[in-house]
Amino acid sequence: MATDRYDKVHKKKRILLKIGSNTLTKETNNISRGKIEDIANQIAMLKNTCEFIIVSSGAIAVAKQFVKLESKQEDVFVKQALASIGQPHLIRIYQEIFREYGLLTSQCLLSYSDFKKDDSKTNIVNTINVLVNNNYIPIINENDTVATDEIKFGDNDKLGALTASLLEVDLFIIATNTYGIYTKDSLENHDPETISVVEDFKALEKQVVDSKSSHGSGGMQSKIEAARLAKKANIETWIVNGMEDHFMLNAFENKIPFTKIK
Ligand code: GLU
Repeated sequence: MATDRYDKVHKKKRILLKIGSNTLTKETNNISRGKIEDIANQIAMLKNTCEFIIVSSGAIAVAKQFVKLESKQEDVFVKQALASIGQPHLIRIYQEIFREYGLLTSQCLLSYSDFKKDDSKTNIVNTINVLVNNNYIPIINENDTVATDEIKFGDNDKLGALTASLLEVDLFIIATNTYGIYTKDSLENHDPETISVVEDFKALEKQVVDSKSSHGSGGMQSKIEAARLAKKANIETWIVNGMEDHFMLNAFENKIPFTKIK
């Protein structure tokens, strides 16, 4: 697949940042403008050396702030409808805040099935490369009207990994609400200790204690599955604590514990 990304003389490090609803709301019932400012600030500081693609949840969480839908239908249909209401607001909030930091944003809605079709894959790559090469930051979410995969399970983790692989990013950062993956023993002793480097998924499986997040639907298991997918495409995944200010800058400087999956 020909991409004009490689035509650039000075290639920037391409980063896919995945932000879940829990991080975006800072575990409250409202989207945190402060967290979006923190992300914009970090991207602005890194923009000379890195280019960013964001996979963001939060559409349902935004809508829940001001809408209560009546329906006798399945819960998942209500969530899809909430996502449809919340998504434009989510993008508006990103746009307003990122603009203050001199950053341009765009919206792309994707679903797993798009990654199974060659035409769709080519279209995704070409569109996003044009955006990124023109200094736009694509903000991707699942197209929740047509797909329910990530609403049911995943927190957009798998969508992030599929996108990271397709766009051949250099680094996949999953921002969550823990300092990476903790050892099982340390969690049982209520003194969480981060596994800083993972090279063997088999050993890791013994360590994973699954926990679901309150807004999102993923938990650590879906993050590990996402990292496994990224690894197949030779992409390193970092699981970092997005609740912290400057979480990416601090991870780059090794100032906070986080998990690197090589
Ligand atoms: N697309 C959903 C949203 O933006 C994802 C929900 C989730 O992360 O569980 O709200």
